[in-house]
Amino acid sequence: MELTELTLRELQRMLADKKVSSAELTRAFLARIAEADARVNAYVTVCEDQALAAAAEADRRIAAGEAGPLTGIPVALKDIFNTEGVRTTCASKILDNYVAPYDATAWARLKQSGAVLLGKLNMDEFAMGSSNENSAYGPTRNPWNPETVPGGSSGGSAACVAARMAAAALGTDTGGSIRQPASHCGVVGLKPTYGRVSRYGVIAYASSLDQVGPVARDVEDCAAMLQAVAGHDPADSTSVDTPVPDYLESLREGVKGLRIGLPKEYFIEGLDPDVKAAVEGAIAVYRSLGAEFVEVSLPHTDYAVACYYLIATAEASSNLARYDGVRYGERVDEGGGLIDMYNRSRAAGFGDEVKRRIMLGTYALSSGYYDAYYLKAQKVRTLVRQDFLDAFAKVDVLLTPVAPTPAFNIGEKTGDPLQMYLSDIFTIPVNLAGTCGMSLPCGLSAGGLPIGLQLVGKPFGEADILRAGHAFEQATVWHEKKADI
Ligand code: GLN
Repeated sequence: MELTELTLRELQRMLADKKVSSAELTRAFLARIAEADARVNAYVTVCEDQALAAAAEADRRIAAGEAGPLTGIPVALKDIFNTEGVRTTCASKILDNYVAPYDATAWARLKQSGAVLLGKLNMDEFAMGSSNENSAYGPTRNPWNPETVPGGSSGGSAACVAARMAAAALGTDTGGSIRQPASHCGVVGLKPTYGRVSRYGVIAYASSLDQVGPVARDVEDCAAMLQAVAGHDPADSTSVDTPVPDYLESLREGVKGLRIGLPKEYFIEGLDPDVKAAVEGAIAVYRSLGAEFVEVSLPHTDYAVACYYLIATAEASSNLARYDGVRYGERVDEGGGLIDMYNRSRAAGFGDEVKRRIMLGTYALSSGYYDAYYLKAQKVRTLVRQDFLDAFAKVDVLLTPVAPTPAFNIGEKTGDPLQMYLSDIFTIPVNLAGTCGMSLPCGLSAGGLPIGLQLVGKPFGEADILRAGHAFEQATVWHEKKADI
């Protein structure tokens, strides 16, 4: 079998047994990128020289018996993680020339463990989008069908893993950006609890929602990646100092007696029939494995998307104020003075969706409107969170669809932002609640596109959703299906 087809843990075993070197592995993935990425456009930057140097260093560590769990494993990062010496664009023209002077903590941890960075992955500009069409570097295509979107905003991360162009990747999820693309690309993506993984060095979109997480081939690989990045970081005051469980160990526990909640608001009219059938199939699998189902209610679900688009845009308008052409990023200076330079730089550097959100957010925060919009949205957010906490008093995990439809066609929703925003109707409430959720493959549509299942856990309940996901994979074959690209 091709090296690029192997799972992360198979690669770990081969490296440990010295059946392959990291240099060979890295070259195999670079060759795969050279062959397939013209059709997918998952990478914004491929850092071949750095990758080969890191692989040589990994081989030295392995030979010296100093290997960590990820030593020699080729991975890739959404282009939102600062990486010292490799440019970080956030898929925006305004950061086209930006090379960070330091590493994001999540990447620093992978690097310390010995992972090899292949490159930086395409995304929606500043993580704003659900289709990867809002990138200054062109859309990423879904490896299952290049006419369709891979989802977003971590579309490059999901497409890259699906097309076997890295062993695993990291993404970020503010309203669904790891789970929705994972669902559309037939891979596993996990958004950890807010505070579980450091966001230091990750370019901020909406700071009260953003969270870093893994995208991988299956649940076990996903657990291994989470293990490597989770934990407190003194450099991020929102990261929580609570012990990180042994995620791989907890996978073995099975789901007998696990109480799974089905939120009735998530099984609605308008759910695509193939998605509905796949999720119902997953419920039947869990039943046969001895899990118990309980109907629960998340009564404020209807308000979540509106609430999210107020909070996220408000925070974005504040976070993106720093891109003014002065310290970094594109500068357009035509001699009209400082304010003119700011305006021109921002007008030229930001794409349309980013501008739309800055305007929405600035409006929501302006005096006279603050109480009616931002403050009200914060109150609604508390109600949404309380819904989840009430449900978790009765059940261990929740099971829901990830997205209302399989991947849609490129161009299909670009003219209608509201339709695009509704792609995240089942993922956004999890971010508002600050808890964890994972997408894993549970079926294929009539058109042959992957469908994802969402498992939502209690705050810091990543081990529960990972073990539930692993049990599902043990009983099914969906995670073994692969895109033909
Ligand atoms: N699609 C949502 C948005 O555009 C979520 C994005 C994300 O999670 N980064 O805001």
